Amino acid sequence: MTATATRDVAATAAQVRDLHEAGADVVRIAVDSTADARAVVDIAAETDANLSVDLQENYRLAEIVAPHVAKLRYNPGHLYHHEREKPWADKVRGIVDQAAAHDCAVRIGVNCGSVDPDKLDRYPQDDSISPMLDSAWEHCELLDSLDFTNYCVSLKDSDPQKVIDVNKQFAERRPDIPLHLGVTEAGLPPDGVIKTRIAFEQLVSQGLGDTIRVSLTVPNDRKSEEIEAGRQILADIAAGRVRTVVDYGLDTLNIISCPSCSRVENEAFVELAQQVKEMTAYASEHALTIAVMGCRVNGPGETDDADLGLWCAPNFVNLKKGEDSLGAFAYDEILGRLKKELDLLIAERTTTS
Ligand code: SF4
Repeated sequence: MTATATRDVAATAAQVRDLHEAGADVVRIAVDSTADARAVVDIAAETDANLSVDLQENYRLAEIVAPHVAKLRYNPGHLYHHEREKPWADKVRGIVDQAAAHDCAVRIGVNCGSVDPDKLDRYPQDDSISPMLDSAWEHCELLDSLDFTNYCVSLKDSDPQKVIDVNKQFAERRPDIPLHLGVTEAGLPPDGVIKTRIAFEQLVSQGLGDTIRVSLTVPNDRKSEEIEAGRQILADIAAGRVRTVVDYGLDTLNIISCPSCSRVENEAFVELAQQVKEMTAYASEHALTIAVMGCRVNGPGETDDADLGLWCAPNFVNLKKGEDSLGAFAYDEILGRLKKELDLLIAERTTTS
């Protein structure tokens, strides 16, 4: 996935070229505005790469990009933001109509941090898998009813064990539907690669998964590492070089961070993720999760499940403890404040255990 500003046609086309040359079979580009959609048209004219457009909730932009790309991805949990009175099924119909007219594939991209709120309400808070499955199945049924078969599904979480569980359960009921696999917000290498490897070894070895994404928090000039890591994992699985699956994150500090994309609001985000990892090394034996996210689109929701969460705005970083906001802090203040909260949390857990 590209992480340059999509509107910057030269930079994004260059990153598409880099990823394509590194071996990416599909390159995804995020589109959040009409200007982004028009930029994709120009970028598509400059490349032979298969392009996938990440519409998230911007279903209305499908009309602009569909004639120029190979795939449209939308997120069922994000279809409530625009035209609230319009039923979600009508919005999906609009995307599917465009895809069918221009021979595009569609990906129903369900993400743990932005699940359809209607589905969340039906299950206990500690069951994150059932709402994701319900949402995916519901959208599959709609696409089936429209006689649209050129689609796949993804069910992503930052916890590799949940990725394994949710994809296995989905495939049991709908083995006919191709799966795109990924561990979202896997974080910095090497941890991010290890988390992804854990999930892919369990799924790909059982014949599940048709496309993959490795999401790593790395600067723009190192994005090709995602492709190299993905190909290495697949080669290792094919050769039987699989590791014993570890129970990742249950007994140790778990830093999750998004891989960044064009929505990143301040490029200092990647450096911040690295600094968080270094600063928190002293707490590595504590079973806590810290999430670092690059923008307001997914940052607020995808930090909810972390013990401490940071999501980056252009000039400040929002700090959260679980779902509660602890305020906004300047980039040069946030590490100190994070350390204070981490120490408090460790003290609380030590007292209660
Ligand atoms: S959290 Fe925001 S910046 Fe990070 S990958 Fe997701 S959409 Fe992109």
